[in-house]
Amino acid sequence: MDYQRILDRVHAAVKPIIGTGNVASYIPELAKVSPAHFGIAIVDLEGQVYRTGDAEVPFSIQSISKLFGLTLAFHLEGDSVWTRVGREPSGTPFNSLVQLEQERGRPRNPFINAGALVVTDILFTHYAARGGAENALIKFIRKLADRPDIGFDRAVAESERRTSHRNAAMANFMKSFGNLNNDVNDVLEAYCRHCAIEMSCVDLARAVTFLANHGVVPWSREEVLDKSSAKRISALMLTCGTYDAAGDFAYRVGLPAKSGVGGGIVALMPGECGICVWSPALEASGNSYAGSIALEMLTSLSGRSIF
Ligand code: GLN
Repeated sequence: MDYQRILDRVHAAVKPIIGTGNVASYIPELAKVSPAHFGIAIVDLEGQVYRTGDAEVPFSIQSISKLFGLTLAFHLEGDSVWTRVGREPSGTPFNSLVQLEQERGRPRNPFINAGALVVTDILFTHYAARGGAENALIKFIRKLADRPDIGFDRAVAESERRTSHRNAAMANFMKSFGNLNNDVNDVLEAYCRHCAIEMSCVDLARAVTFLANHGVVPWSREEVLDKSSAKRISALMLTCGTYDAAGDFAYRVGLPAKSGVGGGIVALMPGECGICVWSPALEASGNSYAGSIALEMLTSLSGRSIF
């Protein structure tokens, strides 16, 4: 597959729509990012990299961290994760509170904020005495991306922490239902740092190749998840990875994916490659507008998807 030619075609085709939508502004630091960025990268299972545009520019991974957090928690705890968080699409915005009351503090899935706060609580319990949840997650991501200098942006983490009233409401609410074991502020702090991790499209495409390779990091041969667990995480990406737009995204793109309000979307073609696209202007559900169109074009032009 001539992915470089396809990426170049996709880049040329999306140029007129780059910047359509709105850059996330409810986290003040993110509002400073230019909507004119666009990058896309593919890393195949042999480690070959295809890229175009701003594919090497680091950006705030935001909710894409939820994918790595869940992978680490699932690796540590297996199915017991599901006693505290569900596996159904929410059909509501990523920061919605409404279902939490009806469902007694058990979030619908790990890829909305409430679910990721529970996952962060699990990681906090495991790692508080061993250097902290954020350090554990960063170390884990460094290993997946094969890049030792990945870290989080302190200004973004603090900007989010200062304005995380909704996430604080969710965390307190879940605590009242007994679904948060650690101190609410500690969990929020770790969560905001996870969201503030900075990576480029190339880093992220590389970091998700283990999911395209049945749970095994292709270059180190390390099994992060067994084959069945990798299938399960990928299935959740398809059904829940792009919030309340997941149905439309599956229809248009046909790949398991996870987005973040920094404008990044990771996706994978099982057995083939990891993919990441970045363009900061978002559609109403909080997914990159140009990014999702680029992924739709990629699967249309390549004829590859999971279907
Ligand atoms: N840090 C963001 C938040 O908690 C992440 C949301 C997202 O990327 N969808 O609101």
